[in-house]
Amino acid sequence: MTTAMQEQLEGSTPHILSQTPDALIRQIGEMGQPAFRARQLVDWLFQKRISDPDRMSNLPASFRTQLRDSFDWSLPGIVSRLDSEDGASKLLLRDAKGMQFEAVILRYEGRTSLCVSSQVGCKLACRFCQTGKLGFFRHLRADEIIAQFMLANQLLESEERRISHVVFMGMGEPLDNPDSVLAAVRLLTSPDAFGLSYRRVTVSTSGLVPGIMRLADKSLCSLAVSLHAARDELRTELMPVNRKYPLAELKEALLFWQKQTGQRITIEYILIRDKNATRREAKELVRFLHGLRAKVNLIPFNPHPGLEYQRPALREIEDFQSYLSARGYPSPVRYSKGMEVSAACGQLAAKHQESIFSAPLRRNVVTASGLPGTSSRLS
Ligand code: SAH
Ligand code: SF4
Repeated sequence: MTTAMQEQLEGSTPHILSQTPDALIRQIGEMGQPAFRARQLVDWLFQKRISDPDRMSNLPASFRTQLRDSFDWSLPGIVSRLDSEDGASKLLLRDAKGMQFEAVILRYEGRTSLCVSSQVGCKLACRFCQTGKLGFFRHLRADEIIAQFMLANQLLESEERRISHVVFMGMGEPLDNPDSVLAAVRLLTSPDAFGLSYRRVTVSTSGLVPGIMRLADKSLCSLAVSLHAARDELRTELMPVNRKYPLAELKEALLFWQKQTGQRITIEYILIRDKNATRREAKELVRFLHGLRAKVNLIPFNPHPGLEYQRPALREIEDFQSYLSARGYPSPVRYSKGMEVSAACGQLAAKHQESIFSAPLRRNVVTASGLPGTSSRLS
């Protein structure tokens, strides 16, 4: 069932950001408005990426009032914005009840990526991950995922930039929330909605097999898999989810996804000292990759308080990388631009609070400049 259908059944006001263009056109018709008005609204939302009816200047005031009454237009509040010198802005957002989640804008030459959250917290408890330590609070709805995209675009207006790529690498496991994530992905990549190329929208998963099967659809999106170990015993230690979906099953799902989509898979591999970064693990990884058309992103572990791991020495990282590239697997090392804080997985929210709940809302407090660092691996 789509979010829009669910909203209707529940009798709640449908959120404007969970509507497809077709659904909007139908509903605007039912409101007694001519078709060109619906097209104007669709243009504001999906082409101009504006989600404030007051800015929709070619719509008559009476129609705007009608729209305000018929849809929920609320957006998450911006608790803080942290800008780093290397072109990242981390937005800490909160919902109506004060629960916090994050989105990260990453500016590059010629492209601007947005890293979005799909949940507040995460159930999967990976041992190296801050979000995993926080535990699970709730799923984000499709409109809340799209709201991250709208807010980011709004902030970028003054820079004459817009988001060109979206990666689901913020807080949460996207495929543990597949209905909302799929609805958001479809809005982002449908040619009649936001129209981003499926190559530019990447869902990153810790390896939830049923979700991967649901994503195995041509031209839907790109796939990144957080592997981090290619030996069951070690992967289960780092990522308890491996008990439920062990490597053999995961590999089968990836082969299926590859066959259905014809696309290359990105494998994410965090390098952790004395854990998964020796020649033995490199060999196991190459064995796992056999038959996959994959690119491997090597991510030196980002240490932070409360996590026991360290990143390996530079020589070990280079060794690991050259073993992979000698066997035909491109494997760029994605260095974080700073050591203390990174854009990885829930670290912003965790840094700002003891729990996931915020203090009373301080709307639009901007704490610009001097953020210790951010990850560049999200491209
Ligand atoms: N749940 C999804 C998406 C969010 S995590 C997933 O696991 O893929 C996004 C990426 O950040 C994952 O590859 C995750 O393993 C990585 N990550 C988490 N903690 C990290 C850390 N301390 N250092 C480096 N990368 C980390
Ligand atoms: Fe969840 Fe991903 Fe963090 Fe694992 S790495 S705890 S799946 S957010």
